[in-house]
Amino acid sequence: MESPTDDFGFSSDIPLEDIHAWHSDEVIALLKTSPTGLTADEANKRLASYGRNQLPAVVGRHPLSRFFAHFHNALIYFLLAAAVAASLLGHLVDATVIVAVVLVNAVVGFVQEGKAEKALDTIRSLIAPHAQLLREGRRVKVPVEEIVLGDIVSLEAGDIVPADLRLIRTSSLRIEEAIITGESMAAEKQALPAPIEAALGDRYSMAYSGTLVATGQATGVVVATGSDTEIGRISTLLREVRPLTTPLLQQINRFGTQFTWITLGVAALLFAFAVFVRGYIWTEALVAVVALAVGAIPEGLPAVITITLAIGVQRMARRNAAIRQLPAVETLGATSVICSDKTGTLTRNEMTARRLEIPSGRVMVTGSGYVPEGQLEIESAGNVPDDKRLMETDSLILAGLLCNDAQLHEAGGDWHVIGDPMEGALVTLAIKAGLNPERKRHEWARLDEIPFDAQHRLMATLNFNVSGGYQIFVKGAPDEILLLCSTQANGEAAVPLDREAWTARITAAADQGERVLGFAVKSAQTEVNQVDFVDLKDGLVFVGLVGFIDPPREEAMAAIEECHSAGIEVKMITGDHAETAAAIARQLGLDQNPSVLTGCEIDDIADSDLPSMVDKTSVFARTNPEHKLRIVRALQSTGAIVAMTGDGVNDAPSLKQANVGVGMGHKGTDAAKEASQMVLLDDNFASIVAAVHEGRVVYDNIRKVVAWTLPTNGGEVLAVITAIIFNFAMPMSAVQILWVNLVTAGTLGLALAFEPAEPNVMHRRPRPAKQGLLTPFLIWRVVLVSFLFLAAALGIFFYSLSRGDELALARTLVVNVIVVLEIFYLFNVRYLHMSSFNWRGVLGTPAVLIAVTVVFIAQLGFTYLPIMHSLFDTRPLDFMDGLLVIGMGIAMMFVLEAEKVLVRKGGWFDHRIERE
Ligand code: ADP
Ligand code: MG
Repeated sequence: MESPTDDFGFSSDIPLEDIHAWHSDEVIALLKTSPTGLTADEANKRLASYGRNQLPAVVGRHPLSRFFAHFHNALIYFLLAAAVAASLLGHLVDATVIVAVVLVNAVVGFVQEGKAEKALDTIRSLIAPHAQLLREGRRVKVPVEEIVLGDIVSLEAGDIVPADLRLIRTSSLRIEEAIITGESMAAEKQALPAPIEAALGDRYSMAYSGTLVATGQATGVVVATGSDTEIGRISTLLREVRPLTTPLLQQINRFGTQFTWITLGVAALLFAFAVFVRGYIWTEALVAVVALAVGAIPEGLPAVITITLAIGVQRMARRNAAIRQLPAVETLGATSVICSDKTGTLTRNEMTARRLEIPSGRVMVTGSGYVPEGQLEIESAGNVPDDKRLMETDSLILAGLLCNDAQLHEAGGDWHVIGDPMEGALVTLAIKAGLNPERKRHEWARLDEIPFDAQHRLMATLNFNVSGGYQIFVKGAPDEILLLCSTQANGEAAVPLDREAWTARITAAADQGERVLGFAVKSAQTEVNQVDFVDLKDGLVFVGLVGFIDPPREEAMAAIEECHSAGIEVKMITGDHAETAAAIARQLGLDQNPSVLTGCEIDDIADSDLPSMVDKTSVFARTNPEHKLRIVRALQSTGAIVAMTGDGVNDAPSLKQANVGVGMGHKGTDAAKEASQMVLLDDNFASIVAAVHEGRVVYDNIRKVVAWTLPTNGGEVLAVITAIIFNFAMPMSAVQILWVNLVTAGTLGLALAFEPAEPNVMHRRPRPAKQGLLTPFLIWRVVLVSFLFLAAALGIFFYSLSRGDELALARTLVVNVIVVLEIFYLFNVRYLHMSSFNWRGVLGTPAVLIAVTVVFIAQLGFTYLPIMHSLFDTRPLDFMDGLLVIGMGIAMMFVLEAEKVLVRKGGWFDHRIERE
């Protein structure tokens, strides 16, 4: 950060080192801010003069060193050696062409890698973290980079602290500071000044940027941003650079290296054979084996595969799935089980309170959404006095309004919630009942709270009111609340709890798919200023239930159906009530008659029995994060590839354990997003399925690229070997082979990276996780096509020689035949499993058409341009020869389509995987 100006009057004399020992009021005064936050104007000014709250960007590798990295592989060394050999033998043109080709290869790889990296960066910025601030007394969500000195930040469990903060107010706050102190236990924090001599790890009044809130809530004032923060000073801890690689790419690179060495071995053997058995002159033999090695190696393959992955990442982002880690693109395509949260992912998370169950009856609420328009209608009959019923209703609604952090906002007739949707619905309910939320919350000042967490499934607040005294309000999972109570409200009095009756009422509401909350209150006789779990152990009076409707997402229903046809199992894992979960599962079409396992039941199942139980269960209810972890492990032990959603701070372990951890972009905590490989921008289940769909397409396309590339190499190698063994002239020179490989890989091969989905992508089972890229079917196809290429190349070569053409012309014909075959084979490969004779197949995609046009023009140049004649030793072809070449391509197309029919009819390969 540049040196602070004096505009704000607090520049040079801020004793940053000691700020932990100051009183928070002093810090607020010093930073010229207030507990209600800065004004927007002031914040903008500070942002302009102090800069953004970000660490200096990772200094990536220098572009030059990135460029030279493309030369650093065995293949390139080999090619360069070949160039040196060629120039020593006096083949200067060949040497130049080889060097030029190597350069072009490096440039293309460099540019494409840069593009892929940029695409990933853009996607990462889509999920850049936000923080909750107070500005001008209003809660706002602001990108972390825009936080300035003096901002008031609220923290809650799961947040990553966005800047260095001096805490103002804390509630059971514990923070994991391992990244700056190395201490793995979460540190307890409080707002009191810490001793001035305290070490970093003991400054309990501070929250440091980059650390993780484990429990509790807090607010704090920003005392340092950007590189002035503690984490910013530890410069070695800057963001790590993620390498642009995946298991598949590594596999291919390993394969490439091994292949290069094998090729060298074979080339050496052939060289010996040529010289000693066939009596070649050694220079000629060397030229031949160089051609062999050059032909064998698929130079363009790794680059094309990287691009295919990058395109997949972009397509997924367009469908609201942001990939954080590239390997997820591959894994998604193999996903066989999706474990999803219910609320907000399968349902809309737009809650409306529909029923109130009070001790003396039932009240139904009309209206929908958050619009506070609707009536409370008494439903159950009976001769309960009105005032008693009113009193009970009021205390239930008041508890719902006070034990609540949500705010309701209206903008142009559109009502929305800041905070938890269920809590927002409770505010709407209060307004429908005639309360003024602002005023009530003001009258009942909140003194302390126990924030909601997924472990305890409840939240409690301690409030004080001049006339009502000290009251504890509790809301949470109704079964949980019932366990804490032994009495229930009865008008103004309390009578023993009728547990059975309440349980029956909960079940009745849950059976309708309603999400049910239970409420209880306790009045404290004496002055208190803290609420703790022990305070909830006795004296709580149960005041009733509220049932909410949360409609299922329509897209989720369609997506679940798609999963079923794609052989993917969907499991709902929720913290909600078993009956609610089962009802929603039915509404979603997830399972008409779902078997439900609850968290308690899972606790009683041994690890060894869990896999079979989990396998046949589709709904898990009342689970906590530890159950999730056990469920993923159990599923994985059956060989499943599991995608698992998560949003809470405690979901990190199961997200990491899952094959694809899926974080929620909206309601997810930073901790959960950080632990996941993919983040849903819209929290929608359908986006997971869309990502799986795209993942399958990516994998298909990679297979297509491979299936299309290898036969070219195969055909070339076979041609060279045959020539040496049967002692005839090389059908193609080394530089011609290089030309074919690079020109076609960079155009036709690349076009395959853009292929859209085949119509059946979501109608086949997930690919087995362990299945290699080259299935028996692909190997067969590669071998078959290699031999077809060989036959065509030799056929035209000898035909040409036999009619008395010179060698250079025959070779030009061979090169053209190979390229034309590749074009036709491309159309065949576009549909691996089904006939390519359909309009979509024949017309191709823009990418395919552009590629074919470019190759066609390149081939015209190669054949007719004088400069090419001297570089590649080519000759112009006449029109009839051109037709012949194209005719051979068409013939091969028919042979290959016939093969598809035969393979399918004959059932030669595993049709579970390869079927249409
Ligand atoms: P889900 O798996 O459906 O997202 P959660 O884990 O968020 O469920 O919540 C589990 C249960 O905890 C809910 O069914 C509800 O009973 C209770 N609960 C959720 N949010 C709150 C809250 N803000 N205050 C009190 N209780 C809550
Ligand atoms: Mg939840």
